[in-house]
Amino acid sequence: MKQLRPAAPQLASIEPYDPKYIPADVMISANENPLDVPFEIRREIERAIRKVPFNRYPDPLANGLRDLIAEANGLDRDQVLMGNGGDELLFDIALAYGGPGRKFLNVPPTFSVYVNNAQLTNTEIVNVQRRRDFRIDEFAVVKRLELGDIDYTIITSPNNPTGDIVSSSFVKRLLNASDTLVVIDEAYFEFSRFTVRHLIEQFENLVILRTFSKAFSLAGVRIGYLLGSEAALRELKKVRQPYSVDAVSQAIARVVYEHRAEFEPGIDTIIEQRERVIDGLGALPYTQVFPSQANYVLFRFDQRVDAADVWKKLFDASVLVRDFSRAPGLENCLRVSIGTEEENDRFLKSLGAILDSVGK
Ligand SMILES: *Cc1c(COP(=O)(O)O)cnc(C)c1O
Repeated sequence: MKQLRPAAPQLASIEPYDPKYIPADVMISANENPLDVPFEIRREIERAIRKVPFNRYPDPLANGLRDLIAEANGLDRDQVLMGNGGDELLFDIALAYGGPGRKFLNVPPTFSVYVNNAQLTNTEIVNVQRRRDFRIDEFAVVKRLELGDIDYTIITSPNNPTGDIVSSSFVKRLLNASDTLVVIDEAYFEFSRFTVRHLIEQFENLVILRTFSKAFSLAGVRIGYLLGSEAALRELKKVRQPYSVDAVSQAIARVVYEHRAEFEPGIDTIIEQRERVIDGLGALPYTQVFPSQANYVLFRFDQRVDAADVWKKLFDASVLVRDFSRAPGLENCLRVSIGTEEENDRFLKSLGAILDSVGK
């Protein structure tokens, strides 16, 4: 046969994920930690990997890791679920709580993976748009949930790419509005130091998503986890790939989690640098900068400057940031991840020079 029959119809409108992650001197486009795992911890990781039997299947639920994380959070093992990065768990949520005839409430602009997963699983997407300043229209979201037909919703705090966090009182109103599964995506909570962990005991419809990819420098290793409702996690266990969290990744994440206190000074530095980048961007012409509680900052140019053109010029200077200028609601916006002090300086200097040449 010379021809290939069409794939499932819901794929027709989907583009394969391509964040344009191309090599540059300064890689500040993917919200990674600019520093790799400290050398001493890497040595310990190497010793741990030596003990992993490669011929045996891994512990499917990664119980060693679950126990560590459960204990640190004052929860039971059944209130923790590990995944191959947070992304796998987001897909599992769509598989278990979405599907034909079911509805996902989205609050855009936010992480694009949520919509992708809903489309893949033929889940109807109900959007409640954020305001122009990217704050959530809390009244509209709660009112929509109160109708009682939404199967799951995901609220990102801090939101990616806009950087703002939710309040506990809003999350409580969400959880009380209906029996909808409410996922609070806290992928960046280590940089905001704000969590809704304290609501887990009271609400069976709450789960919290976390990851090792950002604060803990393990984007390349793929470990994420959920905290929360034992009832919801039980359903997710039915859809997950049994061996998605491989034995090597489990061993690495265990060592890193045991040493998590040693990451705190680095997190402090990123928070300090974030404030410097916000101030630096605020001092530039044509530029509106949005406040951020995460390890990235979103900024928007006025109509005199074309963000896609600036993105290209930054890349020509070997500084890679993320271009959101074609994303709905994020017109003319770029997002910069917080790097080391030197990387942030180079970004601010390059951007300053590019903007200086505008209108000349
Ligand atoms: C990075 C990120 C995740 C998870 O990333 P993984 O690397 O798959 O753990 C989840 N949600 C948001 C909003 C993110 O930015």
